[in-house]
Amino acid sequence: MSIKAVIFDLDGTLLDTLGDLTSAVNTALRHHGFPLLTEEDVCSRVGNGVRKLIERSLPKNAGKAMVDACLAEFQSAYDEHLVERTHPYQGMPVVIEAFRRRGVRMAVLSNKYHAAACRLVNHYFPGDMALTFGERPGVPRKPDPTSTQEVMSVLGVQPDEILYIGDSDVDMQTAKKAGVTAIGALWGFRDRASLLEAGADHIVERPEDLIQLLDRLQLDAAMHAFERNGFTWTFCATAAQAADYIVSQCKGKKIGFGGSMTLDGLGVYEQLKDQADVHWHWKGGDQLPKGDVFLTSANALSATGETVNIDGACNRIAASVHGFDACYVVCGINKLAPDLTSAMRRAREIAAPLNAKRLNKRTPCAVDGKCHDCRSPERICRAMTVVMAPPTGMSHYEIVVVGEELGY
Ligand code: SF4
Repeated sequence: MSIKAVIFDLDGTLLDTLGDLTSAVNTALRHHGFPLLTEEDVCSRVGNGVRKLIERSLPKNAGKAMVDACLAEFQSAYDEHLVERTHPYQGMPVVIEAFRRRGVRMAVLSNKYHAAACRLVNHYFPGDMALTFGERPGVPRKPDPTSTQEVMSVLGVQPDEILYIGDSDVDMQTAKKAGVTAIGALWGFRDRASLLEAGADHIVERPEDLIQLLDRLQLDAAMHAFERNGFTWTFCATAAQAADYIVSQCKGKKIGFGGSMTLDGLGVYEQLKDQADVHWHWKGGDQLPKGDVFLTSANALSATGETVNIDGACNRIAASVHGFDACYVVCGINKLAPDLTSAMRRAREIAAPLNAKRLNKRTPCAVDGKCHDCRSPERICRAMTVVMAPPTGMSHYEIVVVGEELGY
């Protein structure tokens, strides 16, 4: 199955909150004359909600009244200073952006009290998360799976379509109880052994590793889906390998090109022009209506096995389904979307505005990068194709995915 969504834990996974948590805990401890804690002390006490953090920070014989008083003082100090020393882990903003551009929906699930969790998410990741759940009255805390199941229900995804990313044994247990793949993050508050013991399915050492892991899982799902739909599937780890492969398939043939930043970036036209009969309107040539091979890219590939393209003149989408004996669709890994809906959304909301800007079109999307469903005379979204299986008139239809970000 493709991955449609991810759940992030907050403290120790998205955000390094230890500095502000430690300051707030010490405000309460100082007020009552108790020994102060270091960040390392607090690190070993977090993960089960703020009440547990306070209980673990006080002497063992502290009664309930003392815990209640310190909890109130902690919360007051924390509410006032929760975004002073807190910061996203290095690399995490890149991960969030990569997931967003891949059409993967994101949610946050934390044992921190709900109001603070929401404030932190809104402050550091405004508009990125589909929903945020902190600790809420009447809802059991992690590792109980209730909140995880609620997230899945709201996002409309099944357990095998979502990843749970966290840094603690509590997170791993939560994921396993909900039947979700558990990803253990090593940059947070716990070590590899405790994450594995708690059931982590994968361990990642740096935030950026999450992008590679997602791509690997998505590629696997996409390969099976495209092959099931009758396409040939090829993966090339690098752009150079992809260019060599395309050139090897096209030598001596009559080749038409669709307008494509990806193909232009690969330099296959230049490599082929002395070895094949190449025609590309971008390079001053003619627009070939039929031939042996049509080379193009797509605006998106769905991990459920469809290609999606938007076109203005519609020459590219026409030739990709009719007139040629074979078609090769070459796409960077960034164009892989979890399903057809998100692939269509990617084509319209990411690819089209970037292309409108590149072409200096007088459209609202060229100004602010967002689709306004315009009726501009220069609108570039005139038709959209979804190729669900190789057209009957073609003998070969191949999807070539490159393990690098290419094109729009
Ligand atoms: S419909 Fe208009 S605003 Fe939307 S992406 Fe296409 S050209 Fe841009």
